[in-house]
Amino acid sequence: MSVLTSKEPAEIQALSPQTVRADFPALDRIFADQQRLVYLDNAATTQKPRAVLEATRRYYEESAGNVHRAVHRLAAEATELYEAARQRIAKFIGAPSTRSMVFTHGATEGFNLVAYGWARKFLKAGDEILVTEMEHHSNFVPWQRAAQERGAVVRIAPILEDGTLDRVAFARLLTPRVKLVAVTHASNVLGTVNPVAELIAAAHAIGALALVDAAQSAPHLPLDVRALDADFLAFSGHKMLGPTGIGVLYARETLLEAMDPFLTGGEMISKVFDDHATWADIPQKFEAGTPHIAGAIGLGAAVDYLERLGRERVRQHEQQLTAYALERLGDLPGLRIFGRAPERVGVISFALDGVHPHDVAQFCDQTGVAIRAGHLCAQPLMHRLDVPALSRASLYLYNATDDVDRLVEALQAAQRFFHAT
Ligand code: PLP
Repeated sequence: MSVLTSKEPAEIQALSPQTVRADFPALDRIFADQQRLVYLDNAATTQKPRAVLEATRRYYEESAGNVHRAVHRLAAEATELYEAARQRIAKFIGAPSTRSMVFTHGATEGFNLVAYGWARKFLKAGDEILVTEMEHHSNFVPWQRAAQERGAVVRIAPILEDGTLDRVAFARLLTPRVKLVAVTHASNVLGTVNPVAELIAAAHAIGALALVDAAQSAPHLPLDVRALDADFLAFSGHKMLGPTGIGVLYARETLLEAMDPFLTGGEMISKVFDDHATWADIPQKFEAGTPHIAGAIGLGAAVDYLERLGRERVRQHEQQLTAYALERLGDLPGLRIFGRAPERVGVISFALDGVHPHDVAQFCDQTGVAIRAGHLCAQPLMHRLDVPALSRASLYLYNATDDVDRLVEALQAAQRFFHAT
């Protein structure tokens, strides 16, 4: 892998996105009049480096056995690769043990697992779950459903004009009735990075548990579940260079032990009798059926790749690039950016005067620039912002200023086209 710009010590070298690009075959694709693809939809999913593609291919070509079952060599190799990936990912997020790390199919399954396994078991009528106005549907709808079933209530902490959390309102809503605070670490619409360590400490102070949606932070920020003191934290592999269909739920061991299983079937049992069954130890208790073995191995390779690059270096690069993008987009007349939090990731949502967000995205696509448009799986936030939809450009480690320049050119051309017609 070729990621460093020179022979200086790793800690002080800047990341070279142009060199990093060489590791991503998809970024070689040519679109629109021989223009190279500019991929700016990283908040939806990221491209995959060769190291990830090779790790998954190797599993299928050489070690395709099932895990934890047969005694033959392929099964043993598969189990070893799968559990080694769990160990490396646990270390990557600072988890105290692999027992606290459940493989899921993504962040969404992680939240549902907690909603089924914890909320439906422990919530009582009148209890409250506190979320924020900037949550993705996946960290919102599972709590709505669980609350409806248990007679509990979901409270929503509002945001301020700049897209940061209204901490005064949050503190006011954090009453002893709240049993769970479920908050995103980084917003997939506004880019806002929430002060999750402080929010978790506030939740604990009133005896509530805290869950972190790390779908948009795990790929971009150094993450340490112990330093955060999180009770639950979930993210998806595909947003951090890994395969689709694999993700992680971290939870305190004591909580996982107390929770009910979410899915039942093979792999997650200890003993099965005619009339009842007992459960395997954690984390297997929450991994029913054959897991996404290749996905876990691929995610392990993605984590290795990110660590070789250095997460601080990735963060620094993205911060510089985000500042550049905000400045360039901010200079475009008729373009309004939503979210101006000082602590942020490289997710930039915007509206272009007089042009529907879908038309903006489609026009950009015709110039080889991939961005997203829609309600961004955050309809309550769209209502708050009083927009039906937004366009969104989201940056990652292989993006550089030339990508932002291509986006700006595409938006200028879109303005000329739509305002002339
Ligand atoms: N949370 C946030 C902030 C997200 O941006 C997303 C996906 O866009 C999710 C959760 C859900 O992730 P997945 O669809 O991979 O489960």
